[in-house]
Amino acid sequence: MIDNSRREYFNKIREQEVLYLKQVWGSELHHRCPLESEGDLISATITETGEGVFYCDECDSIWRSNHPLDEAHADSFETFALANGRSGLTMDDILIG
Ligand SMILES: [Zn+2]
Repeated sequence: MIDNSRREYFNKIREQEVLYLKQVWGSELHHRCPLESEGDLISATITETGEGVFYCDECDSIWRSNHPLDEAHADSFETFALANGRSGLTMDDILIG
């Protein structure tokens, strides 16, 4: 059985991602995932440190916004190291947009 509150949580995140993509679509701010063809990159801020990142809405790879968006600089939510030394992120740690 699907947990309704969990589904609502992910629907809310998806809404924010779609809103962001509508704003940047067709501009130089819109990036496709460099790792596979289906994903789009979402701009976000890590609330704890203020660091800017892009993450892929399909494979959940993540890039620091000041790094090249390529395979060599891709990280994952699980291993992403914050500037304050903590490592690991969830969607609760970031603000989309
Ligand atoms: Zn991707």
